[in-house]
Amino acid sequence: MHTEDAATSGTWTAGAKHTAAPRIDLFSDTVTRPGAAMRRAMAEAEVGDEQLREDPTVDRLVQRVCELLGTEDALFLPTGTMCNQISLRVHCSPGDEVIMDRSAHVRSYESGGPAALSGVNVTTVDGQDGVFTAQQLRAAIRPPGYHFPQSRCVVLEQTANLSGGVVWPVERIRDVCATAADAGLARHLDGARLFNAVIESGIPAHEYCAHFDSSWIDFSKGLGAPIGAALAGSREFIRQAWRFKHQFGGAMRQAGIVAAGALHALNHNIERLAEDHRNARRFGEMIAEAAGVSVEPVHTNMVFFGIADQDAARFAARALDEGVRFSVVGPSRLRAVTHLDVTTGQVEQAARVVVQLASGR
Ligand SMILES: *Cc1c(COP(=O)(O)O)cnc(C)c1O
Repeated sequence: MHTEDAATSGTWTAGAKHTAAPRIDLFSDTVTRPGAAMRRAMAEAEVGDEQLREDPTVDRLVQRVCELLGTEDALFLPTGTMCNQISLRVHCSPGDEVIMDRSAHVRSYESGGPAALSGVNVTTVDGQDGVFTAQQLRAAIRPPGYHFPQSRCVVLEQTANLSGGVVWPVERIRDVCATAADAGLARHLDGARLFNAVIESGIPAHEYCAHFDSSWIDFSKGLGAPIGAALAGSREFIRQAWRFKHQFGGAMRQAGIVAAGALHALNHNIERLAEDHRNARRFGEMIAEAAGVSVEPVHTNMVFFGIADQDAARFAARALDEGVRFSVVGPSRLRAVTHLDVTTGQVEQAARVVVQLASGR
């Protein structure tokens, strides 16, 4: 698997500037636009000052998140990145070290946030497709001693995005988190696509989250809301997180407008993720037949594919000319992500474009 490419190439682009929106946008599951029912829910939301904890819609969202994730408390935030960064800030002190897979979003796609905002070292583990073992974690934990950064936290990503949308098996999570707990490490779950794992595995979110001190979900990925994420944990963790929500500029005012979109997403868009997974598999099967295309195994709603001897940015630009947008994640590696704004027919059309471009026609 080419996690190295993705984590280090620095590319995360459409490969070309586009003026008109592509007809079929497989860039990411972040490109969805709120539909009429979601917009109506947002327009009609009851609101108050969120900083003063007076927004009833945010309160309802927080309660719903606690039910789903099985936590005592939760916090509404503008982005998943802020959930990650606030969590590290709560769990760690400057000079501490955080352990995560080499392909982790926190490491490569959050602008150096761990160093800049919390003063922590990031050390990595070479997992298999983003999933590492308790033994690998143990080997990465520093011995006691004044010379060393202190190992303080482990981060797991569900699903493992840059490794192909792979689902961490719950038994593995249990083992890794038990090892972390034994060593006194905090356990943090980057759950940007936790519900994709829930739908694929049939294991409820709270069974995953039970192993963590902090976990979060993103409403603006596959769930299809325009803005927002929720960070969850114990009452004490969330109490501390509130301080950094203010400090990092994430305390809001009439946030119920956006929280209503997130609530609508939780109520309507979880089960349908199965459709995205089916579409991703369909796309993967279709492009697997193309000459020179190597498709990585499809686990959830992402399809990573390599195009031998071709420049990925150029390939993406040509696809865009055909009305299809992919993201470029390596010199010759691309990613297609399915979501609620693409139909099976559009995914099949996108696959035909790949087959056609790969054959040089
Ligand atoms: C998108 C993503 C994030 C960041 O979430 P934002 O809401 O875009 O800030 C973090 N981790 C993973 C795995 C992601 O895919």
